[in-house]
Formats: sequence, structure tokens, C-alpha cells
Amino acid sequence: MSSRPGDAHSRTHFGFQRIAETEKAKKVADVFDSVADRYDLMNDIMSGGLHRLWKFFTVAQSGIKPGDKILDIAGGTGDLALAFAKKAGADGTVILTDINHAMLTRGRDRLLDKGFLIPAGQCDAEALPFKDNVFDCVSVSFGLRNMTRKEKALAEMRRVLKPGGCLLILEFSQIWKPLAPFYDLYSFKVIPRIGQLITGDAESYLYLAESIRMHPDQETLKKLIESAGLEKVEYFNLTFGAVALHRAQKPE
Ligand code: SAM
Repeated sequence: MSSRPGDAHSRTHFGFQRIAETEKAKKVADVFDSVADRYDLMNDIMSGGLHRLWKFFTVAQSGIKPGDKILDIAGGTGDLALAFAKKAGADGTVILTDINHAMLTRGRDRLLDKGFLIPAGQCDAEALPFKDNVFDCVSVSFGLRNMTRKEKALAEMRRVLKPGGCLLILEFSQIWKPLAPFYDLYSFKVIPRIGQLITGDAESYLYLAESIRMHPDQETLKKLIESAGLEKVEYFNLTFGAVALHRAQKPE
């Protein structure tokens, strides 16, 4: 039977499982509801602090200037939004968004504790509540993998960017092949155990490992971004390709 995205019959993946497209958002929400409280601690432990360097690199590649308008999508606990706010300065605008209330609340509170009052809005990346051509930069870090219809989310990112604006996508990607067996061992055996110890939830961290394997590799994601109508798409492999930053521009 043929089906179109959004049909009751459309299927997608949730980690290694095949599920109805309509079920994915709820399953992803359950993951982040479960881990929100310990999300930052787990990020530091799992990556040995490397996620801070990946995010630092992302902000350095953004080209953001004081006064710019930046939208952080799937921004969770607000690491990128905070760094962007420091760069954009008092005349700039940074908006933190996420589909998940628990993650967004943590992000907003964390930023407030650090002295940054940043507008935060709960919304789905696939239906952004912003006008066309508003932002100088749109970012999504470690979020695209979790979205059901990536093409739709990318089209939305393009729509809200100003012509010439910059899209940044930081995401797990395909690691350098010789390291893959060690990385598999670490992701499938070690990380779920750490997840169990720290959050009491091994399943969510197994989903993390599986969803990374199902996510498009560097070149495939580059083509997806081009198909969404962005140009000058390039990517930077970080930590042997375990993570990649894709950067693109909306045509002028
Ligand atoms: N950007 C943060 C970071 O780098 O630490 C958080 C990343 S966390 C792994 C993934 C985030 O994507 C979660 O907060 C989740 O709620 C959010 N997310 C998943 N699907 C989404 C969607 N369709 N629209 C917006 N956010 C989404």
C-alpha cells in the first residue's frame, strides 16, 4: 500500500524499531521527559565533556554578530542559546524553542540562573510559529535525529531564515570506519549502563545509540539540506565523524 508522509499508514523508525509516524513524537517525548533532570550530567559523562567543544565550535562557525536574531530549535537545556546570547549581545535576540516542556523548562531556568532572560517557546520544529525571513541564524543541535519528518523541519528552518541567513545543524554522524567497532561497543554496552545508573533509564540511552545509527550520514544529510532549498552546504567532521556540524545558507 502506498502512503504519504502524515498518513495513518506512514511508517518511520524509532531507533531500530519500525513504528507508525504518528507514534514517534510521543515516544521521543517519553525519552526526554524521563531524562530531562539528569540530561546535562549525562551529556558530560557520556561525551567526557566533548559536547562542550562541539558546541563551542558550532558557535564559532555561526558568524553571529552583535544585534543578530537567532532561533535555537530543539534547544533543550539551552547550551547553544546561552552561547549565542553572549555573542549577540544586548541588542541581539535569541529564542530558545523545544517541543518538550520538561527540557524547555530546565533550559529556561538554567539560563535565568546564569542571568539571561531569553524568550522560550514550546513548539514543534516541523511547524514553527514564526513569520518568514526573520532570523539571521537558525540552529539545531542533537535534535534533528529525533524529528519525524526531517524534510518538513528543514523546510521550516529555511522558511524562517532571512535570505543569506545561516543554518547550523550539529548532530551525531558516521564515525571513521576503523573506530566503528569500539564506538559500537561503547554506545550499545557502556552508555545504556551509565544511563541506568544515572537516570534509572537504560532504554532511553539505548534509543540514543540506535537513533544515531539510523540518522543520515554526512553526505546524505548534506543532500537533504540542499533539497530543502539551502545552498553552500558544507560539513565539518568532529571527533572522527562521531559528530558533524553542517552549515548552510538560505539563498539571497
Ligand atoms: N539542543 C540541546 C543540546 O544540544 O543539548 C538538546 C538536544 S536533546 C538530545 C534533543 C531535543 O530535541 C530534546 O530536547 C527534544 O525534546 C527535542 N525535539 C525532539 N523532536 C523535536 C521536534 N519535532 N521539534 C522540536 N524539538 C524536538
